[in-house]
Amino acid sequence: MYFVSTTQALNGQPPEENHSSPAVSFKEAVLHCLPREGGLYIPESAPDLRPFFLHMGEETTFSELAAAVTPLFFEGELNPLAASRVAERAFDFEPELLRLDETYSILSLYNGPTGVFKDFGISFLAALLEELLNGENAMVIAAARGHTGAAIARAFQNRQGITTVLLYPDEPIYGLDSGSYVPQGGRLIPIRVKGSPDDCQKLVSALIQDRTFAERYRITAANAINVGRLLPQSFYFLYSFVKLKKHITGELMFSIPSGNFGNLIAALYAWKFGMPVNGLIAAMTANNSFGEFIKDGTIADYHGEFLKAAVNKNAAFASAVTPVLDIHYPSNCERLASFYKSAPAVMRNMVFPETVDDASTLRAMKTVWDKYGIHLDPHGAVAFAAAEQIAAGADFYDHVVVLSTAHPANYSDLAFKASGKRPDLPEHLASLDNRAEPIAEIEPDLEGLESAIASCS
Ligand SMILES: *Cc1c(COP(=O)(O)O)cnc(C)c1O
Repeated sequence: MYFVSTTQALNGQPPEENHSSPAVSFKEAVLHCLPREGGLYIPESAPDLRPFFLHMGEETTFSELAAAVTPLFFEGELNPLAASRVAERAFDFEPELLRLDETYSILSLYNGPTGVFKDFGISFLAALLEELLNGENAMVIAAARGHTGAAIARAFQNRQGITTVLLYPDEPIYGLDSGSYVPQGGRLIPIRVKGSPDDCQKLVSALIQDRTFAERYRITAANAINVGRLLPQSFYFLYSFVKLKKHITGELMFSIPSGNFGNLIAALYAWKFGMPVNGLIAAMTANNSFGEFIKDGTIADYHGEFLKAAVNKNAAFASAVTPVLDIHYPSNCERLASFYKSAPAVMRNMVFPETVDDASTLRAMKTVWDKYGIHLDPHGAVAFAAAEQIAAGADFYDHVVVLSTAHPANYSDLAFKASGKRPDLPEHLASLDNRAEPIAEIEPDLEGLESAIASCS
């Protein structure tokens, strides 16, 4: 599988001579993670995975599925044995597909170490990097908030040779073990940036684009800008299909709680790999006006800053229930725009943006409890409510898989409100609530970041 930059794909022009960057391999895209000419990496071509997952049965484990399809991404740069090692090290947890009835299934993605679906992509990337580096030293950097930093820290903690830099905005951070910090002999460098989450993202990109510095420390990113984190998210869509294919006869849809649209893009890639699917609901809070640009096709006229300005003009209604979905400008915007450009009919006919307000989210949590006796996390409830809203308007689907992206126990008060009962909090999630401290604090500029890294390593 080869990757090109969105800049190239969107402009449709050959890159300038001295910037000339032909398509790169998956390995290269994982290790360098940002194209020189700007933008993000997207697959130029896609392997046909049908021979694999059409023959897999309900007994196939998630890790087996990952091991089987990963070598096809690498075209010889990672052999099947190495791919099995990566899959086994990455996934000692599985997604769980629960069929509720004829119409709905829930795909629970919260069984990883930090109870959020992000564990899947992060774990895979960590195991993959360890395999690709083969004992050499390297560094990963990620912009993080809340619990995501803990997810990254844990996944990389015991990976040979890898130092992890976490950039936090000016807000509290949780769940880090200070014993794993660099000054204590570990390999973790948490840095607080006096600025916004957006400042942190920009610093990550700037650092990767400072090729001299990035190459000296062999730095790559652990955010979803890295396709090594994004592509494995397609595995759980394939997995759901494998589990469901014997049980459903009609159309298959997924309803996806969307913030930065990583899961939505991953689902579109699963379709590109040959997975039969009829629709993808992009379930959003009222704050994510981005759906409008997909609906009306504005996204096809993507000119970076133009669209960004258009998106930002829309008013923000903060969601009290699912703030993680309140994204003004999704980081996967350019990937979506490129997808739209290459397959406009697919985007128009298969992607359904749907907005859900907090009241509907809470109602969906209660409905799922009353009808099926299970706790659904608020993000899953956004997806469930979106599916219900679409179902009320038409009858064009048969089965919807609703993605539950976080452990309901992390939302104990909301779950209690919906059901009168609190979900059990697994022990491994309880320790995530410990407040942590960074080991350095910097202004949001590249120089400050580079000197902090240099002085820590
Ligand atoms: C990050 C996150 C999302 C949004 O996922 P995207 O791939 O960014 O759209 C949804 N739910 C939870 C719980 C998250 O942490």
